[in-house]
Amino acid sequence: MAECDPACCDGNFGKQSACEEKTTRVLEGCIPLPLPDEIISEIVPKAKDYALLHGAGMRFKDTYNPDILQMAPFFLLPSAFPRREFDRVVKLQPLINILMHRIAHDHEFLESALKNTIRVDDFTAKLWEIYLTVREEGVSQDLSLGLVRSDVMLTKCHAGCCELCQTPPYVTGHQVEVNTIASGFGHMGPISGSIHRYVLGELRKPELLHHLPENNALAELCGGMISAWEIYGNKKAVIMFVIEDVTYNICDQRFHEYEIRRQRPDIHVIRRNLTQISKNGKLTNDKRLIIDGDEIAVVYFRAGYEPGQYHSEKEWEARLTIERSKAIKSPSIQYHLAGTKKVQQEVARLGVLQRFLLESEANLVGQLFTGLYSLDLGPEGDEVIKMAMENPDRFVLKPQREGGGNNMYGDEIKEFLEKVKDTPAREAYILMDKIRPPMQHNYLVRGGTEVKLSEVVSELGIFGVLIGNEKEIMINKFAGHMLRTKLSSANEGGVAAGFGALDSVFLFD
Ligand code: ADP
Ligand code: MG
Repeated sequence: MAECDPACCDGNFGKQSACEEKTTRVLEGCIPLPLPDEIISEIVPKAKDYALLHGAGMRFKDTYNPDILQMAPFFLLPSAFPRREFDRVVKLQPLINILMHRIAHDHEFLESALKNTIRVDDFTAKLWEIYLTVREEGVSQDLSLGLVRSDVMLTKCHAGCCELCQTPPYVTGHQVEVNTIASGFGHMGPISGSIHRYVLGELRKPELLHHLPENNALAELCGGMISAWEIYGNKKAVIMFVIEDVTYNICDQRFHEYEIRRQRPDIHVIRRNLTQISKNGKLTNDKRLIIDGDEIAVVYFRAGYEPGQYHSEKEWEARLTIERSKAIKSPSIQYHLAGTKKVQQEVARLGVLQRFLLESEANLVGQLFTGLYSLDLGPEGDEVIKMAMENPDRFVLKPQREGGGNNMYGDEIKEFLEKVKDTPAREAYILMDKIRPPMQHNYLVRGGTEVKLSEVVSELGIFGVLIGNEKEIMINKFAGHMLRTKLSSANEGGVAAGFGALDSVFLFD
């Protein structure tokens, strides 16, 4: 029997079948590589210009200047992605939307999932306090606008464990997380596809264009905000984007504004950070939210997901003022809590999905999950810690944070658990099986660095839009996609956080 390589079999040590399919771990790209040097030197400047001139830009932290945009890093070619898996996650998205919506409205579940976390994680505790305050006062706006993004990576699955991993291409999608706040790349997703359409055209490969799926993420997400604005029902009211003090990922945000203007020239968008809202925001007696004289119909949070965005109590007061108001929020506080990593881990427990979905639906969604483990104090958590310390390379350790760059990997996990293993501090974290996506080859195009062929892995984000309250769901749909790719040697892939680069999918059968 062949030796099983722990690096290839996703923890299925000892199962020969897991390693036999090792060859499937490299996906074939959209065209044979490498490209001749003369083609690269002709195509890269064209692709860079296309990216810059179509808003694939960012402001960079190290050279921040609001007057200067730099090209966002991107991959020269679209990355291969199996059509079967793409179609599967697209079809599942309305169910993921419903799942998140129902979790957000299940007080008992949220309370029991988060009760230990909020004792040790101050940030989640603050969110929880706002949630409870609004709940006790009586909610003024029972509708939520869900603009969610479910992120998945391909993995070889647990070879032989389900029908998906027994049929070609022998990979399946596993969910990394569901984002319920500030799910970015509604613009960057589609624009990456259009860079690749252009590049394939310039490479004189128009016959490949049908492998690139259409992507209406920007129109759909903005359409969701417009629907919420209509439901709010005041023609004079505006949409407010809650923004960071300094916005690096400016193109992605501004294009949302421009798209709203394109679809509805009569709707105005304003942008404010939490400090400005704390100074200039008021609630009327009937709970309308007024900022600098404008009534706010819809609040779209592009900030507020990390502790550093709340400088003082003032910003927390601003968040509470927004939650108390009858503006329709994306996300409402309960949606924000439903998107925490601790909740994700509790939902992945055996049988819990059935609390929110029909048995048949739960089975479909459950196939997306990979192992998630609680570190709460007690024998179950002790076992998990032992397992993680024995094999740290098999896992990712996650705090309750968003935005990239917060997780721990490998030896870092071991060192950290050694420190916290006997304290409640461990309850602020969850452990997750490390997903090992198949590699492929692509050219990273990044300003100021040489373009070279690299081994890369991708993460697909599927957007969903939902509007509803506890009793009724008025809109629920799939809303486009995005793909981020990183060097296979990197742990994390956030583009804004500096780890990954823009990409798009090239579907193959
Ligand atoms: P964040 O909220 O910071 O985006 P994520 O859970 O998405 O947190 O993790 C950030 C990144 O870390 C992901 O985009 C992915 O590249 C990597 N990552 C997270 N979880 C896993 C996992 N289970 N297996 C492999 N990589 C992961
Ligand atoms: Mg993420």
